[in-house]
Amino acid sequence: METILVLTHADETGAALAKTSLEAVTAGKNLAAQTGASLTVGMVGACATAADSLASLGARILAVTGEAFAQARYATDAAACEALCHAAQPTIVIVAAGSRFARVAAGVAHRVDGCIDTHITSIGAEGPLSVTRWFYRQRIEATLTRTSRPWFLLLDAGTHAAFSGEPGAANVEQVSVALPALRTSAVGFRAPAQDAQTIRPDAQLLFVAGAGWTKKQPDGQIHAAEAGTLILDFLRNTGASLGSSKSLVDQGGEGQPVLPFLTHMNQVGQTGSTPRHPKGLATCCHGEEPHVVGWRFIADRRAISLDPNCGWTRGKADVVYIADAFKVMQKVNQIMAETKG
Ligand SMILES: Cc1cc2nc3c(=O)[nH]c(=O)nc-3n(C[C@H](O)[C@H](O)[C@H](O)COP(=O)(O)OP(=O)(O)OC[C@H]3O[C@@H](n4cnc5c(N)ncnc54)[C@H](O)[C@@H]3O)c2cc1C
Repeated sequence: METILVLTHADETGAALAKTSLEAVTAGKNLAAQTGASLTVGMVGACATAADSLASLGARILAVTGEAFAQARYATDAAACEALCHAAQPTIVIVAAGSRFARVAAGVAHRVDGCIDTHITSIGAEGPLSVTRWFYRQRIEATLTRTSRPWFLLLDAGTHAAFSGEPGAANVEQVSVALPALRTSAVGFRAPAQDAQTIRPDAQLLFVAGAGWTKKQPDGQIHAAEAGTLILDFLRNTGASLGSSKSLVDQGGEGQPVLPFLTHMNQVGQTGSTPRHPKGLATCCHGEEPHVVGWRFIADRRAISLDPNCGWTRGKADVVYIADAFKVMQKVNQIMAETKG
């Protein structure tokens, strides 16, 4: 019989668990229900209200609390997770692959003589316990099983719904941690302004800009500045996340017109990212396979292209508007401004 430990941490307020952690809780809950295994949730740096949100789970709750664990830091997070593992003695450890725990999970697995697999998208227990993950840029899905324990599973964000249950008074067991000497302290946050941050993993919509935005238009001119304004207005109005084709982000290095707010971090595709959003809208993009492979997890795909023969029309999109994206986005922005006003 397996013993499951879900490792979680607080969000930036400290009053609730991070969304990715709540997704891992759902994965642990489902696995425990399928296998009849015991379920423990280990919390790092969260306060009592966070534990109360898990009351309806019916799981054992362990917590590491204190000033040192309020902030993300390798030494303290790894020590806390290690102590939680010693307290729970799990055979399966489910960890959410957010930026905080993704960097400590492998180290913790090593410390407790365990093994780890990353980018897990599902956990199943029909027959021997198995997990799935994608390889080769989401083209091949593999099912893995292992006999060695404890087995750490670093769960990809967005693959499970966040746990939510009726809050109640949770019984929390405190776990003490022997801290190593600390050499790192956080002195503050430096983050881009909200509207300068264009990559928004939780957005409902992915808006992709293709190279067409900076190419010569039917009037023989390039309108890169206008393109930038249209795109940023749309992002401000919708809170959409901004993706790009490779051609567009590569242009800067080739001395061609660029959209200054785009970097390679925005690139979607085979050599870019594979984001998860309910909807996607591609604009001025041709829809070639190396780009569209990054759309694997976008549920509803639409595109605006001047080319009626583009990849999107050849089966890559659900809806294609054969139209001038400058005109369409201008009209869309205008309608949204009027609706808001
Ligand atoms: C090994 C390898 C890896 C790659 N990895 C990636 C990757 O990760 N991501 C990626 O994106 N690409 C990748 N590529 C490149 C990919 O094959 C394409 O070259 C790239 O996606 C093309 O970008 P694009 O569609 O924006 O540009 P283009 O092919 O130049 O298409 C621009 C489109 O804009 C349209 N357009 C122009 N003006 C307008 C207008 N006013 N309104 C509407 N439409 C307009 C044009 O009709 C055209 O269809 C890779 C290629 C290779 C070989």
